[in-house]
Amino acid sequence: MTTFDPAASLPEQPAAVRQPSLRVVAPRQGVDLAAAEQAVADLLVALGKDPNSEHLSDTPRRVAQSFAELLTPREFDLTTFPNDEGYDELVLAKGIPVQSLCEHHLLPFHGIAHVGYLPGKRILGLSKLARVVELFARDLQVQERLTQQVANGLLEHLAPKGVGVVIEAEHLCMSLRGVRATGSRTVTSALHGVLREDARSRQEFFALAGVA
Ligand code: ZN
Repeated sequence: MTTFDPAASLPEQPAAVRQPSLRVVAPRQGVDLAAAEQAVADLLVALGKDPNSEHLSDTPRRVAQSFAELLTPREFDLTTFPNDEGYDELVLAKGIPVQSLCEHHLLPFHGIAHVGYLPGKRILGLSKLARVVELFARDLQVQERLTQQVANGLLEHLAPKGVGVVIEAEHLCMSLRGVRATGSRTVTSALHGVLREDARSRQEFFALAGVA
């Protein structure tokens, strides 16, 4: 499971000048590429295919690489800045692309996230909202947990007055198989602080995010 690792943050500095920038790392067990390749070759055999055929001979390597890429988040610095002007309105990043893998079927789900917060003493570099989404999305996931992890991560490391996260995604396990509900989107949300407790703030967040 991904966590923000404060131990891996900046070198020791006196508290007064310490910049609250956290190196965000994913202390997950890495992907064993060789084992994954072998497993994909075994899967092809189990599916009645010949992994030695010309078309499939390189497939195990490609599939293993693809999974490694989809399950390995990029590290980044979660840089925050002092909220010197005392900005106290909603900051919202809309339409952040989300790609993840459903842990029940190992099939992709993809869509968009809207991530907003009401600043406290610190504000965040705007691109970081998308990076936080990606950090948690590159994992075997369920949409509900992904939504909560993004909200909790921001809550923990930005200490805003409120956080709201909405994710709308299409799950290929629903659209390609099973009920074949092509085009149907699943919407999840996680709200904390003022955005959870105050009805007007909550409505403003959903209205700006374009979620009825
Ligand atoms: Zn699924």
